[in-house]
Amino acid sequence: MTGRAMESKKVVSFKSLNKTVGRFSLKERTFLIPQMNRIGGHLLAATFRGFGIHAKVMDTCRGLDLGKEFTSGKECYPCQITTGDILHFMNKEKQRLGDAFDPDRYIYFMPESSGPCRFGMYNKYQRIILDSLPDLHRLKIGSLTTDDGYSLSGIIDSQRVSDLRRASYFSVVVADILDRLLWRIRPYEKEPGITDAFIEESMHRMEDIFEKHGPGKEFDRILDAMEAIIEEGRELIDPGIPPKPLIGMVGEIYLRSHVQANQDLIRVLERYGGEVVNASIAEWMNYTSYDRLRDAKISFRLSMKQLRFGSMKKHLKKIVDFGSELYYQEFRQKKIYDRLASRIGIAGDHKVGHLEKVLKENDVFSFDAGTEACLSIPGIVEYAREGFNGVVNVYPFTCMPSTITSSIIKPMMNQLGIPYLDTPYDESIQPGREAAIRTFMYQAYQHFSQHGRKAV
Ligand code: SF4
Repeated sequence: MTGRAMESKKVVSFKSLNKTVGRFSLKERTFLIPQMNRIGGHLLAATFRGFGIHAKVMDTCRGLDLGKEFTSGKECYPCQITTGDILHFMNKEKQRLGDAFDPDRYIYFMPESSGPCRFGMYNKYQRIILDSLPDLHRLKIGSLTTDDGYSLSGIIDSQRVSDLRRASYFSVVVADILDRLLWRIRPYEKEPGITDAFIEESMHRMEDIFEKHGPGKEFDRILDAMEAIIEEGRELIDPGIPPKPLIGMVGEIYLRSHVQANQDLIRVLERYGGEVVNASIAEWMNYTSYDRLRDAKISFRLSMKQLRFGSMKKHLKKIVDFGSELYYQEFRQKKIYDRLASRIGIAGDHKVGHLEKVLKENDVFSFDAGTEACLSIPGIVEYAREGFNGVVNVYPFTCMPSTITSSIIKPMMNQLGIPYLDTPYDESIQPGREAAIRTFMYQAYQHFSQHGRKAV
């Protein structure tokens, strides 16, 4: 073999990163959604099914051994979990279908985000793993990106894209409220276990509702069903149990939402006497729209200074598109919370624009740097100002944005006098975990007895 031929053999082809990672039509495919927050995943899948897409939420953590086998240990924990989830699912489908198994029948959903952290690399890394396994090079990875605010164009008929996006966003907010309902009732439940069973049953009820009423955007009918659920939920609360210290939770979106990955942290905090409010998923979606709008405004101003009229026109269009999307999302989210949250005392959400102002006040970080630290740092400050009794930051071990959050926020929390706890996770059980949580809750109790708590 000539030297030239040997050289060309060493060249790795990244063709598959373009051809089998991206936005694909979901027609006649099964759309596989990894489980992050259980309720959100199921309501989103139900909404997609309403639009005629065969969407399915995959089991999670059953294939963690496979996830570890095909990663080196240096990847973020969510990457290991989701790698295991898709490999496990594919193995099971192969066993179930035998010769009829065809990886081309599925689209595996793995979104990405641009910016300084590693989330943009999960789908590329998983592509390389899938390509190394028999047949799985034919499994496409459907990827939406924060670059265009998770646009859904291309995956369904163009005239239905806007409806699907709006119904999906609605499902995300309703799922946030169902989660918050769980955390609102469970610490005060009349009998142990009734809240979990009730929320599980309510989630399935809402799946049917979204499948039926999501495509027609019959939002009032969906909210009627949620109102009925909240009324039933109120009955599960024992009025004799006094209010408990209120704990705010922020951090990396996957870890703080994925119950198995964070070793059921909210339940542990409840066991030691807390009531918890976790940051929402809609907040992240609003942030991606806000950030795109912010970028478009910056680019527009720059083009104006340079008198580049073509570029000005392009960025102006983006400002209108992202601006109206953000306006719609915040308007819709507010409407939902206005109607539902006060019925049982569910905490509202922070507006992203307000969080940027809080960040600027303290001048400790900037939206220019991006990542979830933009939400977590001011989110913690807001929790402290609103009268929460403690804040927990949840994240994968070595997560860059959350480590930045931790380093910036710790001295600020000392000044504010609010108990604060970092809880990094990988698959191991840290020996001092329970002791750290117990100590944190003891401090939160002290704060609660001295200052009372925010009424939600
Ligand atoms: S946010 Fe953290 S865990 Fe998630 S990809 Fe980035 S570095 Fe990894």
